[in-house]
Amino acid sequence: MTTVAVVPGDGIGPEVVAEAVAAVDELGLGIDFDVLDGINARTYRERGAAMTDADFDRVRAADGVLVGAIGHPSVPDPAYGRGVLLRMRFELDLYANYRPVRLLHDRLSPLRDPTRRGIDCAIVRENTEGLYAGIGGALRPGTDAEVAVDTEVSTHSGVTRVLRFALSAATRSVCMVDKANAVESGGGLWQRCWDRERRTRPDLETRHLYVDVAAMRLVRDPDSFDVIVTNNSYGDILSDLAAEVGGGLGCAASANLNPETGAGLYEPVHGSAPDIAGTGLANPVGAVLSAALLLDRLGHAGPARSLRAAVRETVEAARCTPDLGGDLDTRAAGAAIRAACR
Ligand code: ATP
Ligand code: MG
Repeated sequence: MTTVAVVPGDGIGPEVVAEAVAAVDELGLGIDFDVLDGINARTYRERGAAMTDADFDRVRAADGVLVGAIGHPSVPDPAYGRGVLLRMRFELDLYANYRPVRLLHDRLSPLRDPTRRGIDCAIVRENTEGLYAGIGGALRPGTDAEVAVDTEVSTHSGVTRVLRFALSAATRSVCMVDKANAVESGGGLWQRCWDRERRTRPDLETRHLYVDVAAMRLVRDPDSFDVIVTNNSYGDILSDLAAEVGGGLGCAASANLNPETGAGLYEPVHGSAPDIAGTGLANPVGAVLSAALLLDRLGHAGPARSLRAAVRETVEAARCTPDLGGDLDTRAAGAAIRAACR
């Protein structure tokens, strides 16, 4: 029996996740969902912690976890999000953040160009170290003499494993992105690991770009990329850029993976969007495509392809939410995807 833990979370999270779960159910794969309803901002406000150890045990016992969105303006405390998403990310050691970008229809890209041949790439972001490792501090905070330091951490093993994952995820090419000309120590480590690992895949085109050039190319030639692999902070920025070029936040899916253990957390790239929660405007495509990534990892590649094809078909026919040019609400857009699966 395959069990998927579901964390609907906050804002539009429950609305979009409901459509993703219904779409997977429609495929009839016998997947069981364990819904953790208590992990949200309201629980955090009531008991000062959103995720109990018992919740975490249920996540750990599952074959994957599908998350809607965690975060709400009523809980500005960063400990809330950290206690949920970062806890899962670190305790399950989900070191590879995989964000595929595939343009569903030309009308959705800000870079409309009839000569362009489809955008279909993925960003692999190192998810556990880099600038977001939480190492640093401030001297004399709040004074005119304040000095703040945040340290960017790169380890040989951390870099090697994410490079290996990126090389395994590619079919055409891998582009390693860093800023070794300005961030010398970490850049040097990335370059040495890259020089060694890329030799293991002579069948792939392997190249390197500095992050500023990569940002420019993502706008100018997004169709020239297959897999991009980079560190935590550059990956954060480039994947939002790529998501926008590829059709917008509402379509973007992500997986946080540990390929060795098989653990994975799947979530749309967008946040809880409290401004549109409850209005029916939330686009479920990012959540549905995240569920397709989950199906890939659970060994259901065929059904995952069907789900992607169904999404593409509905978006092409404008049977989708207003952000994609349709006039359906969240539930009707989800129902259209399910109908296209049949
Ligand atoms: P977070 O800090 O949680 O990442 P954020 O401030 O980055 O949140 P999001 O919640 O990602 O913001 O949303 C930004 C805006 O994009 C929202 O206010 C909403 O208008 C729009 N948006 C986000 N997700 C969707 C969606 N699935 N469908 C339609 N619009 C969306
Ligand atoms: Mg955001």
